[in-house]
Amino acid sequence: MQLSAYKLVLGRLLTRDRLLRFGVPVPDPKCVLCEIENESIGHLFFQCHVTWSIWAEQNRRHLGGVGRERDFREILKWIGDCRGQEQSWARRARLRLAASVWHVWKERNRRIFEGLSTTPVGILQNIESDVLVMSP
Ligand SMILES: [Zn+2]
Repeated sequence: MQLSAYKLVLGRLLTRDRLLRFGVPVPDPKCVLCEIENESIGHLFFQCHVTWSIWAEQNRRHLGGVGRERDFREILKWIGDCRGQEQSWARRARLRLAASVWHVWKERNRRIFEGLSTTPVGILQNIESDVLVMSP
């Protein structure tokens, strides 16, 4: 998925900051993963220390641990910069990024709407399962 596709998808997600801007009452604007910072797309995906720990662990285990970017645009640029050198690496990195976004959003919704939660290790295991199934 290219940056524009991510922006399109992420720009539609109704994070708590967006709901408040639309006038929807939100009992607590805090991120349900860290319960420290207010939830926004930028925070939820990678600036949050919980989410970042999941991405950093994948990076360390599977992507060479060289990228330290904490912003979607920077991460996609980092992946794109490396693409010319090793296409399969970039494909794996994009797959992991997409799986991370999906599982973080799913976890966020489970916590808000079902009152259930998984540890960061559990989220990482779910990502690993999906990546294993989707890997060529
Ligand atoms: Zn957070």
